[in-house]
Amino acid sequence: MMEKIRMTTPLVEMDGDEMTRVLWKMIKDILILPYVDLKTEYYDLGLVHRNETDDKVTVESAEATKKYGVAVKCATITPNAARMTEYDLKEMWKSPNGTIRAILDGTVFRAPILADGVTPYIPTWTKPITIARHAYGDVYKNTEMQVKKGSKAKLTVVDENGSEQSELIYDFSDSAGIIQGLHNKDRSIEGFARSCFNYALDTKQDIWFATKDTISKKYDHRFKDIFAEIFESEYKSRFEDAGIEYFYTLIDDAVARVVRSEGGFIWACKNYDGDVMSDMVATAYGSLAMMTSVLVSPDGIYEYEAAHGTVQRHYYRYLKGEKTSTNPVATIFAWTGALAKRGELDSIPQLCSFSEKLEKAVMKTISDGIMTGDLAAISKLENKKTVDSETFLKEINIRLSKSLQL
Ligand code: NAP
Ligand code: MG
Repeated sequence: MMEKIRMTTPLVEMDGDEMTRVLWKMIKDILILPYVDLKTEYYDLGLVHRNETDDKVTVESAEATKKYGVAVKCATITPNAARMTEYDLKEMWKSPNGTIRAILDGTVFRAPILADGVTPYIPTWTKPITIARHAYGDVYKNTEMQVKKGSKAKLTVVDENGSEQSELIYDFSDSAGIIQGLHNKDRSIEGFARSCFNYALDTKQDIWFATKDTISKKYDHRFKDIFAEIFESEYKSRFEDAGIEYFYTLIDDAVARVVRSEGGFIWACKNYDGDVMSDMVATAYGSLAMMTSVLVSPDGIYEYEAAHGTVQRHYYRYLKGEKTSTNPVATIFAWTGALAKRGELDSIPQLCSFSEKLEKAVMKTISDGIMTGDLAAISKLENKKTVDSETFLKEINIRLSKSLQL
């Protein structure tokens, strides 16, 4: 038996809800604790405990992430009306991811995990495409109105000295209509740009960014200019050293090039583009259960998670005693991402190599034909066999323990 890998700095561990909470414990018990002398600072973000602590635990977990630099998070319930009764909640607590993102001020990067036998709908995409979505402003924080015929709509700005600048948006003399006011902040766009460039360096991938600056000569053009300024002054030489590129183009040109590409780059998107394109990319690669997600702050703090939710329907079947075939891959990759990052920051190469071997063991299990139901439904392997989550994890462990003994 090998000696367990020691850690120096704790990982911030954010536990969660329902089926993913069940998987969380299984993953730790079967795949991590036998090999790693795991050091975590544990925060229970399960809805019961969030309610007990008036959601303070979510804020505390984000503060701890700022302190230590790396977190791994389980999927959590965002309460709605039905959850108010189900969990007898004091309040309809906000989305934990929203709270954490607001505190860390980060950008979310979503990347698919490509499995043998699962062909993307776009067959040229042989490498993952990572989407970086700017999660602030634009149409998500808008002001809009319906306007009566005969109205004039104006855009007015009052500066701090009280002087006004006004421009006509439209003279609605011929028809009623609609108007919308949008904003973004230089500071938020700068943070977005730095998160993107840092993550590109981190993962050694090219980064693409696109807007509609030819039409939106002030608004979208500002995004283009900020990215260009920050790249030139802070990142250009580091990108050259790393052998990667920053590529800017128009959004419609980007869409055409993405479809023709083989993948293997990061696509930075404005808020709305990222919302739409991340669903397109996730679907094209096959399964939401194979999508990882990492929140990266401009000052280099990382929070890893799966992109999917708590898989509620499977959980209700689990509560009835059924062994479900829920896919744990994205949650395992959240753990390997976090452990590898911890290993890198603390110079513990064994932790990085353990994470890599665990990921390889997962992929080997799937290419050997052993997989959960969601993958079996889309896999083209002939010898495929559907197993429940626990059997799948044990099969991964057989391969992991072999590769660790080599
Ligand atoms: P979901 O948990 O992602 O599941 C939607 C459906 O996708 C499942 O019913 C299942 O389909 C399939 N699926 C997702 N992950 C899977 C996996 N690992 N293995 C196998 N199948 C998987 O989304 P939801 O049902 O809309 O949301 C449930 C709860 O999760 C909500 O309370 C929501 O607030 C929360 N949520 C949290 C996060 C987060 O913390 N990051 C993100 C999204 C949603 P079948 O049932 O057809 O098998
Ligand atoms: Mg969307």
